[in-house]
Amino acid sequence: MADKKGQLVINIIVLLFFLLVAAWNSYRPLSSVDVKTNNVFDETLNSGYTYAESPVNADWPMHGRDYGEQRFSRLTLINDKNVDKLGLAWNYSLGTYRGLEATPIIVNGRMFVTGNWGVVHAVDAATGKMLWVFDPEVPGHWGRYGCCDVVNRGVAVWENKVFVASFDGRLFALDSTTGEVAWEVDTINQQPPYTITGAPRVVKGKVLIGNGGAEYGVRGYVSAYDVQTGSLVWRFYTTPGDPALPFEQPELKMAAETWAGGEWWKNGAGGTVWDSMAYDAENDLLYFGVGNGSPWPRAIRSPGGGDNLFLSSIVAVRPDTGQYVWHYQTTPGDSLDFTATQHMILTEIEIRGEVRKVLLQAPKNGFFYVLDRITGELLSAEKYVEVNWASHVDVNTGRPVVIKDYGKQPEMVLPSPAGGHNWQPMAFNPDTNLVYIPTKDLSGLFALSREWSENGTFTYKSGWWNVGLDWQTYTDLTENIDFDSLPISHGYLKAWDPVEQKVIWSYKHNNAWNGGVLSMAGNLVFQGAGDGILRAHKADTGDVVWSANIMTGMVAPPVTYSVNGEQYIAILAGWGGSAIASGDARTSAAAKYGNYGQLFAFKLGSSKSLPVLSERDRNITITESKNFNEEDLRAGALVYMQYCSVCHGSVAVSSGVLPDLRVMSTGVRSQFKEIVLEGQREAVGMPNFSDLLSENDVNKLYQYLLYRTQQSLTTDY
Ligand code: CA
Repeated sequence: MADKKGQLVINIIVLLFFLLVAAWNSYRPLSSVDVKTNNVFDETLNSGYTYAESPVNADWPMHGRDYGEQRFSRLTLINDKNVDKLGLAWNYSLGTYRGLEATPIIVNGRMFVTGNWGVVHAVDAATGKMLWVFDPEVPGHWGRYGCCDVVNRGVAVWENKVFVASFDGRLFALDSTTGEVAWEVDTINQQPPYTITGAPRVVKGKVLIGNGGAEYGVRGYVSAYDVQTGSLVWRFYTTPGDPALPFEQPELKMAAETWAGGEWWKNGAGGTVWDSMAYDAENDLLYFGVGNGSPWPRAIRSPGGGDNLFLSSIVAVRPDTGQYVWHYQTTPGDSLDFTATQHMILTEIEIRGEVRKVLLQAPKNGFFYVLDRITGELLSAEKYVEVNWASHVDVNTGRPVVIKDYGKQPEMVLPSPAGGHNWQPMAFNPDTNLVYIPTKDLSGLFALSREWSENGTFTYKSGWWNVGLDWQTYTDLTENIDFDSLPISHGYLKAWDPVEQKVIWSYKHNNAWNGGVLSMAGNLVFQGAGDGILRAHKADTGDVVWSANIMTGMVAPPVTYSVNGEQYIAILAGWGGSAIASGDARTSAAAKYGNYGQLFAFKLGSSKSLPVLSERDRNITITESKNFNEEDLRAGALVYMQYCSVCHGSVAVSSGVLPDLRVMSTGVRSQFKEIVLEGQREAVGMPNFSDLLSENDVNKLYQYLLYRTQQSLTTDY
């Protein structure tokens, strides 16, 4: 029984998670020792890039290193024979304590990374010396519109411009030398609850950017802007709008036929393109991954059923015009937040004796997909983690065979809304022909909105979570929880054979939330983890051949590059993103040491000492004693669940990133009401909830937090 309850609660904690470059080296003379590369995407980088790899000076010029987003480097100066000599070259503090998710972009010896909100830091890639910093000055109240921390996944670089999208939806072109703004456009008409956390891509003279906000109720789209002027070239909507209005693009007619019976446009419909894109230059196809619906359950969104295109789909378009070419929907009619926004890799693999040009994706739903990237045809799909919502994917129909009809009663679902794999990039190695995937085995509880089940209505909350679930069910299940007794959740780094569709090796992590992956020709794979350790594995066997304890958890992917003949490995450390809600405090470096955002670069033979952090004081003490009223406590728990848990953690146990509300200072306690209802800490991202909560709600919430403090007196995290 204890085990069953423990499993339920960890599942709820997991569910609460969702409540829970372009290269510019054309001006740079290429070295005479350029390496011949067998990477098909280097040879097809013919749309404006002069790109080659040199052991002397090699860039990481765009998000996935190449258009095919393989995150594979041919540099072999660092390899499995000498990696034990890797040491810290330099580190650079970003002055943040929240999640850092950016891929560093390195062009001609300069590195560009983003911190929180879309702040850009330009540093010397050999020394870590700051060159300039750009702050888009996003108003702190916009933090409320982010499901998963105020993160940013990086910049794009093209010619002399650096492109970044701010958390409040503005797209900037910056002078790469000075950081001055060349142009700025507002991609969302400053309409909350839209946000942007994704990295722009530059393809054929256009800057491409999507947006986020499907948990809050927005309509997703991708926009293409002219790199020189910032003028809008095209926009592709991923879901149909108000049927009383004309379709913005012809394929929305096809999409609208897959929605039935509801008023989806009033809740936005969702389908945000918040992360992945890839480009096949040879066939001139731009791919983007589309997210979940608003709200999550199809029962509310589209009660007449249907696939609800283009939710949870990979869409291929022409980059010049945004013209639709094909789509593949991974989860038709999705109700479980199974986005297809996860990283896509383009490559060629031999299947049944035939070389196929493929697109590889491991979306949240737990199946690894191999698609023909020219036609969108499904070649194969197999489970890369534990899955219980579908038995298999039928290769003939291209559709999953769903086991359960979600929505009738609360169900435990594998994977959880956190996904078998989330946004953390995978990597491909064309020598081993393996894909390295950061995965996790977690389940989540799905409980359909009681309001919808009982009354057939759905009350839309402006500017807050509108996912259509029943908070009372979650609150009831977390009552009297003994957090200490819960099982610890784990993540994995899996080496996956995309031809045989099976695991070749797997490495188990101490925490479910870990970083993206880098793959290198020197038989190495690098990954940072939630426990604050950066590890190098042998690409063929998975053996750990090097590690560094940097005492700060990582979710961002590492990159590699060379300057003046020396190869570097660089990574942003700063745990967060979705981990703020569901990351396990017992195994996170963030809970133990704080979460100080830093950029680290390593090279061979360097012996600079790693920073040593002291442990935080996490002692819990009672500062007020109180006789609790059970009814008020239950009401307070429900308020906490709906409005606080997504950032401060389930049952008031913080993952370690944002404040643990069981250990509020005297000052915070005395100003609790002003903070929650008057926006006293809005500047640092703590929103004002006066439109959603009354003073009475806040009093009950405060009681609940005191109660949780008392309950937690014996914990040591
Ligand atoms: Ca989502």
